Amino acid sequence: MATTSKEKHMYPLLDLHCDTLYALKEDPLAGDLLANTLHVDVERMEQAGAITSCFAIFVDWEESPSPWKGACALHDLFLSSLEMYGDRIRQVRTSAEILNNTTAGALLTCEEGEILEGDLSRLEVLQSWGVRMASLLWNHENSLGYPHTMPSMPLKPLGIEAISEMERLGIVVDVSHLSDAGFRSVLEHARKPFAASHSNSRECTPVSRNLTDEMLRALGEVGGVSGLTLCPSFLTSEKRASSISDMVRHAKHMLNVGGSSILAIGTDFDGIGGELAIEDISGMERLWDALGKAGFSQSEREGMWQKNALRVFSA
Ligand SMILES: [Zn+2]
Repeated sequence: MATTSKEKHMYPLLDLHCDTLYALKEDPLAGDLLANTLHVDVERMEQAGAITSCFAIFVDWEESPSPWKGACALHDLFLSSLEMYGDRIRQVRTSAEILNNTTAGALLTCEEGEILEGDLSRLEVLQSWGVRMASLLWNHENSLGYPHTMPSMPLKPLGIEAISEMERLGIVVDVSHLSDAGFRSVLEHARKPFAASHSNSRECTPVSRNLTDEMLRALGEVGGVSGLTLCPSFLTSEKRASSISDMVRHAKHMLNVGGSSILAIGTDFDGIGGELAIEDISGMERLWDALGKAGFSQSEREGMWQKNALRVFSA
């Protein structure tokens, strides 16, 4: 089968996090899933090569009377978008579907466990929608646990219960945004590999959203992944725009500490502001090239681009 030069050049990418659904809902004038003024759309996914994006169902529940209804509304938006452009983007639910898909791919995830409103049986509904990864919380304390700004607070009992229920249903536990003690709770109770879908190295940039070396080591030991995020303030604390070399520096450190199987990509496109070194999904090839020039092997980059995350989804 003939492939374009683009496809040959950059390995297929599985991006573990974007907030495009929420951004489209918040700003209908931005366009739709096919073409918009945001960071991710089908046209630019196609330009970039073979891309599967994890589209997060995100609700800022302190501003939403019913987080569950908010989640249902975003799911409706997802379904109607895919129905409209089904020949260009397809929902994928399994590793095999990701690998065999010939269009742009859309994997559903969740960011904010309060979507459940404390009712773990809703995880079965999320699973039936095709949700394959979910973060326990965002930046607010919720019924499952505490955010990164409250580092000493462990998971609540319902959060611990949620872990085994998610594992039973094949939903990967996502620890991005979680408190440090919450991370240790997951480490203690998880029986399967878990993910930090969009978090960098705290040793490189000391913000609580990034992972300490101890966390990276632990995550590597259980076969988990951390998705390198392009959020400028998680890439550099200096008063300048972040750069691709900041991304390479974080990736190198994460690999050195957690091992090559820990690396993934979790851009956080459409959830981040500021001056971006890579402005949208069509520019990811520049990072692929920069990593190659910095000495990352082909297999390390393939692991980071897709294979490591697929291993976690398949576990
Ligand atoms: Zn986030």
